[in-house]
Amino acid sequence: MKEFAAIEQYFRQGFVARDDIILGVGDDAALVQVPKNMELAISVDTLVEDVHFPANTSAYDIGYKALAVNLSDMAAMGATPAWFTLALSCPQMDATWLQEFSQGLADLATRHQVSLIGGDTTRSKSAITISIQVMGIVPKNQALRRDQAKVGDVICVTGSLGNAGLGLASVQGQIDLPKKDKQFVEQCLNQPSPKIKAGQVLNQLGVCCAIDISDGLLADLGHILEASQVGATLHLEKTPLSETLKNHIPTQRAWQLALTSGDDYELCFTVSPDKINTIQQHLPSIHQIGCIEEIKGLRCIEPNMEYWQPQKAGYEHFADSKE
Ligand code: ADP
Ligand code: MG
Repeated sequence: MKEFAAIEQYFRQGFVARDDIILGVGDDAALVQVPKNMELAISVDTLVEDVHFPANTSAYDIGYKALAVNLSDMAAMGATPAWFTLALSCPQMDATWLQEFSQGLADLATRHQVSLIGGDTTRSKSAITISIQVMGIVPKNQALRRDQAKVGDVICVTGSLGNAGLGLASVQGQIDLPKKDKQFVEQCLNQPSPKIKAGQVLNQLGVCCAIDISDGLLADLGHILEASQVGATLHLEKTPLSETLKNHIPTQRAWQLALTSGDDYELCFTVSPDKINTIQQHLPSIHQIGCIEEIKGLRCIEPNMEYWQPQKAGYEHFADSKE
């Protein structure tokens, strides 16, 4: 199958339409209408075969996840995603693969009413690479940012952590789980649900500081602390863990997974304590896990009040390379 036939068949149709698209797939560039009094939020994320997903991941899941991780960045800004572009590189144009891949993309895109408005299709030597750029809208001066944490804020997360990390251990054959748990954690890994609604609600309720947890809580909260020039203490026993994690993983190891494994795509946000009750009414699944402090650095405290040291803190590309 040739490039243009593939674009026509898999990327020009099957995606939601939107009234604010002046020109979509097919011209040299797409044209969209940004509403008055809104800012444009733009983000790009790349998934590389064997780095971000094992080579045996289904094409459907690859498509789904490629969009999910990008929508998660919109959620983290409190933005409403509207449009995306897709740069796809693969060694060949395989019709079955493209069909499933575009279906995974389209299913999630439809759920969130985001439109595919353009892209680029190229041949690679071996690995499949997918870059998605997503664009969303957010009310002026209201985006959730990493540099807005204030001393005295509480630190919250929108849901349980470590499930995708356990999912990765499961697909890599490092752990044998009962069927239901295996399905649950592998779904968390392969089809993460971006917390768009939560981001919008936080935005509306006056929260200013958030990040999505893609590289593990310690790493991502670390970005908030650095950008905001503050420190924090986390209380480990408050870390939300799924029943699957609690039932199958010893506590210490569960904390390790929850705080340092990536791909959960929950949101971490900080907010002044007086707003917490209102937020909890709108988002019952949030958990308070710690507080923002003046003393720099990130401290984790065990229930016995001892400091806890993680074995590794989050995933970092090039972490093993010599400068
Ligand atoms: P150009 O030569 O102007 O860069 P291309 O030949 O790369 O344009 O692409 C033709 C049209 O198809 C463009 O509108 C482009 O946005 C769209 N397109 C190409 N690849 C994809 C893709 N993978 N998904 C969606 N649209 C695509
Ligand atoms: Mg052109």
